[in-house]
Amino acid sequence: MPDDLAKAAHDLFLRRLAVENRITSAHLLGSYRSLTGSLRSSFDALTALSEKRNLTVSELARSKQLERLLAKTEKELDNFSEIIAKQSEIVQDKAIEEGADFASTELKLVGVRFNHPDIRAIQISVDYTDTSAFKGIIENFGGYHVQSAKDIIATAMTEGINPVQTARRIVAYYDKMPMYDAVRLTRTLQLWSARKSTHETYRQNAEYLDGWIWVASIPGACMSCVSQHGTNHPLDEELNDHHNGRCTPIPNTGRQKVQSGEDWFNSLSDTEQSAMMGAGKFEAWQEGKFNFSDLSKTYTNPLFGDMRRESTLAELVN
Ligand SMILES: [Zn+2]
Repeated sequence: MPDDLAKAAHDLFLRRLAVENRITSAHLLGSYRSLTGSLRSSFDALTALSEKRNLTVSELARSKQLERLLAKTEKELDNFSEIIAKQSEIVQDKAIEEGADFASTELKLVGVRFNHPDIRAIQISVDYTDTSAFKGIIENFGGYHVQSAKDIIATAMTEGINPVQTARRIVAYYDKMPMYDAVRLTRTLQLWSARKSTHETYRQNAEYLDGWIWVASIPGACMSCVSQHGTNHPLDEELNDHHNGRCTPIPNTGRQKVQSGEDWFNSLSDTEQSAMMGAGKFEAWQEGKFNFSDLSKTYTNPLFGDMRRESTLAELVN
């Protein structure tokens, strides 16, 4: 691990982001609950229709009631997406401040007499909510989640699921999924913006730094993040973990040492290692079938670009 103070700053930074995220999530949850409340009578009508004798799923799929429900839902979800967009801007601005604060603390801890971050410049370069990718998600929010309900019906038809079950699946979907989607989006936007801001602050202090070091929240991180822990990166590269990722970059002055994730992992007992990797990967690892660094795999997310995830067992041994 990095030294205690650097670790404490990493933990504090993540805790502050988590608290702010809870406030945003509570706000989104409240808005979503009032929205599903207003859709309740439509859901009840759909449920009642599905219970009609001798009704088939394809009749349900073609019914006027379903069509009306989906049209109404799409409209409500589009209203909800405006709330998501507003919350996202608040989340983003706050995260930029937090990310710059964190970078300043870490720079202080490694003894760099640093340039204070230019928050305005960072806000301009990090303005993610203004990109076409983000706007696209907001604009298509209702349409996307209505399509999901249509997919549920198509699946029900091919699987021969009865209308009652099908209606239940649709109601269950709208009970939570769009809200989870909103929470995940704002959470990832928050972490992404905070991290961008941290990187920008380091770049504004390039004259003092050799790059940055990847720090994962261990214990508790997935194997992709553990395998990245302690690795050195140039300033123009950015930390790219997964959705809800809890890794941070700390400044590298060329003087401090961070234990590698592999060394940390090797210091654990077999039982702990197996629990973290899963039995299949642990066995393959013991047999020397892959390198530790292979545990992390990059992929491209349409919204956030390059991201990392843990490799599957099949990817590791094939
Ligand atoms: Zn991870």
